[in-house]
Amino acid sequence: MYADVALPVPLDQAFTYVLPETLRHRVQAGCRLIVPFGSRKLTGVVLAIHKNRPQGVVKEAFRLLDEQPALEEHLIALGRWIARYYCAPIGEVLRVMTPLSGETRSSKMYSLTDAGRDAARQLLFGADTDDPTIQILRLLEGRSVSTAYLTKKIPDAAKAVRSLLKKGFVDVEEVHSDRDPLRASSSRLRISFPDARPEGKLKKSERELLSYLELHPGSHNLAEVDQVVKNASEAARSLARRKILSLQVEGPTLDTHPYKPPPVLNIHQEVAFGKIRDAVQAAAFRAFLLEGVTGSGKTEVYLRSIEATLAVGRSAMLLVPEIALTPAVAGQFYHRFGDRVAILHSAFHDAERAEQWRRIRNGQARVVVGTRSGVFAPVQGLGLIIIDEEHDGSYKQQAPPRYNGRDVAIMRAHNANACVVLGSATPSMESRYNVERGKYELLQLPERVEKRPMPEVELIDMRVEFVETRKQATFSRRLIDAIRERLDSGEQIMLLHNRRGFSSFVACRSCGERVRCVNCSVTLTFHRRDRRMLCHYCGYAEKVPSLCPKCGSEHIYFLGVGSERVEEELHREFPSARIARMDRDTVSGKRHFETILTGFRERAYDMLVGTQMIAKGHDIPNVTLVGVISADIGLGMPDFRAAERNFQLLTQVAGRAGRGELPGQVLIQTINPDHYAIRLAAAQDFLGFYTQELNFRKAMRYPPFSALANVLLRSEKQEDAMRMSSEMAHLLTPAPENIKILGPAEAPVPRLKNEYRYQLLIKAKDRSTLNRTLHSLRTHAADRKWNATSLVIDVDPLTLL
Ligand code: ADP
Ligand code: ZN
Ligand code: ZN
Repeated sequence: MYADVALPVPLDQAFTYVLPETLRHRVQAGCRLIVPFGSRKLTGVVLAIHKNRPQGVVKEAFRLLDEQPALEEHLIALGRWIARYYCAPIGEVLRVMTPLSGETRSSKMYSLTDAGRDAARQLLFGADTDDPTIQILRLLEGRSVSTAYLTKKIPDAAKAVRSLLKKGFVDVEEVHSDRDPLRASSSRLRISFPDARPEGKLKKSERELLSYLELHPGSHNLAEVDQVVKNASEAARSLARRKILSLQVEGPTLDTHPYKPPPVLNIHQEVAFGKIRDAVQAAAFRAFLLEGVTGSGKTEVYLRSIEATLAVGRSAMLLVPEIALTPAVAGQFYHRFGDRVAILHSAFHDAERAEQWRRIRNGQARVVVGTRSGVFAPVQGLGLIIIDEEHDGSYKQQAPPRYNGRDVAIMRAHNANACVVLGSATPSMESRYNVERGKYELLQLPERVEKRPMPEVELIDMRVEFVETRKQATFSRRLIDAIRERLDSGEQIMLLHNRRGFSSFVACRSCGERVRCVNCSVTLTFHRRDRRMLCHYCGYAEKVPSLCPKCGSEHIYFLGVGSERVEEELHREFPSARIARMDRDTVSGKRHFETILTGFRERAYDMLVGTQMIAKGHDIPNVTLVGVISADIGLGMPDFRAAERNFQLLTQVAGRAGRGELPGQVLIQTINPDHYAIRLAAAQDFLGFYTQELNFRKAMRYPPFSALANVLLRSEKQEDAMRMSSEMAHLLTPAPENIKILGPAEAPVPRLKNEYRYQLLIKAKDRSTLNRTLHSLRTHAADRKWNATSLVIDVDPLTLL
């Protein structure tokens, strides 16, 4: 028997291995297998099992990781589609589709057999306690313990255990520790009333716990019970071990928010929800674009649609941008759907993720909330997929395979005869255009809930400010006054500055030289707190020089304002204000992000300064002023999406203001007040922006008027990168029908992480032409045996850098 295995290597093929006798009947397609590959061991996914001996030497597979396929057939089919569409090796695609990089951690649990128990009774009577055999028997009396626990208690247990196993006194069982509730913390355990009658003697705490459960039927969080019943936690574990009651691991406790009863839908929500509900009931593929202004109550429409999906016996999935999966969001879902929710977040440990994956797979969790890779969750009976903030860049993976979770979700919904809802206040050009082309149905929420007004937006022309004050200031007088007003009235403020660090450049006043990264062709950013200059692309860091490295001058100066400096200037301006900053320098882990956000929500801070992180989806009612320090950042990028991204960011951040009872105000500082992206964002006019941007895209044949791919050639040697790129260009000369090629040219960042980069942009009239062309490029690279990482193909790129 042979297995074709897809391995996480940048090659477009599966590899065939012999299955040893022990694996023959256990391996199925979709299972993960550990196999030798060159001198390495790799984990791959079995695509097929067959009896056709391939030519040449065939190696034997080592080990099987899953008894059940890790990927069901329809997911493998989805993986094949991704591989084709994004020109990515199937093995790399399947690797990101499986929940865990390694295997689910398992451990061995030892317990006494009947014979062992008899033996123990005799042996333990007055026995020597230094003997490891005796110690083990004593330890195992009435319970089972893991290898780790056993060796911790009895360091020299190994030999004695082996002998006890041989004699049949001890039994060993392989358990997945992730799934062992006895190892989870009490706050994550749910306890419910006994399935079995208690036998034998009970401790006092055990009796108390049982009578509590009898009086309070239903399931409870163990940590909460622990508050009212003394030693409940310990008692519960002991009872669970004896199988008198069962403990279940629940989702991570993200639910810290007060319960809000579901509001009555307004007329717009009602209409949108009605359409989605009807479509879900029809059980056929349908796609909707839900365009709802900020604060229009899109989430409530999602929640109702999910309820309607559950009501017809199917499951639902909600995808949200990485940064937006906050406790507030998760909490709403727990309140509404309780145990039926699984939350998938990349910040979770493998164990947590494995547990959620298992609950989804066995149909226990029928509502899945996740980030990009959540789209691969093994949801059973999928009826609805919702993609919130569908325009968000975090849906696109920036490493191979470069898939867009939104588009994969649409494909998945299509294959499953499910409905898909794309929600946003600022839909992407592609999605909105799909409405025009009749592919999606448009649903609109044109106003905020409870007729709350949209925030008032004002543009502040910083050129005029400069003329009037003769000062190059970070804050305009208008903004300073507005901040002061809010501080006085106890309302909160958000300030966006989408550039981190202290100063963006460090330069020499004498010769004009800017300090650059040694690995990349970009300037270094000064970070004051660490007293270093950092490369934001590769992480390279160095001390600030006291003399110019080029001309020796002492006149080093700092240019450009970053969020760190905005925070510092704010402290100076408003010494008693409580200010929090949120950017990648202050937020290291997911939890940290939540701490800042929760602190702000609970009014521990008056002001939150930050990069685009602060703009995404947060619903903080007491924020009445939003300021944008510079709306111009990013506009000059050599990227056809620059205007779209700018419009989205400004509209989204403006939408954070005035979401509660109090109306909101937005002040946007800019030196380009006439730029259409800025002007229309200030007017919060999505349709106006869409119409104007569409003209530009059409004239330039950019998406949605073409299928686009960015082909990047990279090498540590500049000649090589250049040569490869001209070979690619040559292959495409004359340009195939319906294809237009830009380049080859140096990439906007010509050197990155020590590699030189050249790129070609390929615009194709249709998808299949693009795909065919890209595959011919890959074949060429493979035939020439180019280093696998030198050709990067990014299909539907979100950025061209
Ligand atoms: P969006 O995602 O569209 O910006 P949210 O879904 O965050 O808006 O909703 C904003 C707030 O309005 C939330 O606090 C939500 O609970 C509330 N809300 C939603 N629908 C209604 C409604 N029909 N009536 C009153 N409040 C509502
Ligand atoms: Zn100099
Ligand atoms: Zn660098």
